[in-house]
Amino acid sequence: MEKKIKVLVWNEFRHEKQNEKIKKIYPDGMHAVISKHLNSQGDIKASLACLDEPEHGLTEKVLEQTDVLIWWGHGAHHEVKDEIVARVHRRVLEGMGIVCLHSAHFSKIFKVLMGTSCVLNWRDGGKERIWTIEPSHPIAEGIPEYFELPETEMYGERFDIPTPEKVIFISWYPGGEVFRSGCVWERGHGRIFYFSPGHETFPIYYDKNILKIITNGVRWAAPRIIKKQECKNVPPIEK
Ligand code: ZN
Repeated sequence: MEKKIKVLVWNEFRHEKQNEKIKKIYPDGMHAVISKHLNSQGDIKASLACLDEPEHGLTEKVLEQTDVLIWWGHGAHHEVKDEIVARVHRRVLEGMGIVCLHSAHFSKIFKVLMGTSCVLNWRDGGKERIWTIEPSHPIAEGIPEYFELPETEMYGERFDIPTPEKVIFISWYPGGEVFRSGCVWERGHGRIFYFSPGHETFPIYYDKNILKIITNGVRWAAPRIIKKQECKNVPPIEK
């Protein structure tokens, strides 16, 4: 049997406990919905971790056994310990894939990987039309030319990121805003996929296209090399 891709779906997992509306949509957390879908795929073995676990559920041993880490964080980025961020960073440089979702654009790990401020424009409400502009990219496999989310949070340009190696999706909003909503980079041996939809108050992680894109992202980001390299001298984390 083919070896399964080991995915760890990491979630801050606070909104779902603290807000009744969000708890109704995601009673076991957004990470549980994403993980359930991934585990239905046959080639992926997904498990869960969250902020309030010891070492945020990101021990050396767990990360060692992770092929792709999915990250969702929002209100508590500052609570993620710098030494854990450095540990995740080192694993990405060694070849672990990382998929950063929605407000993870402001997570410590994403900012370290990008080296820029990662600020963007945003506002509440409205629909989002997601255009597939690189249909031949593996992350766009099976995704239509465009699809819409009826309710979303607007994330708009300018998004302060280094020019992506590929922009796979661009989002449009009725306010006229646009956003590079699906972008990829490589750092060291690791592949990075940022995908912006996923505001916690809407059932976005039940949408079949969104789940398909995340699944494609996991398959794309899975490490292609097994050989390990020492990457101890990672840059310091900015406070
Ligand atoms: Zn949001």
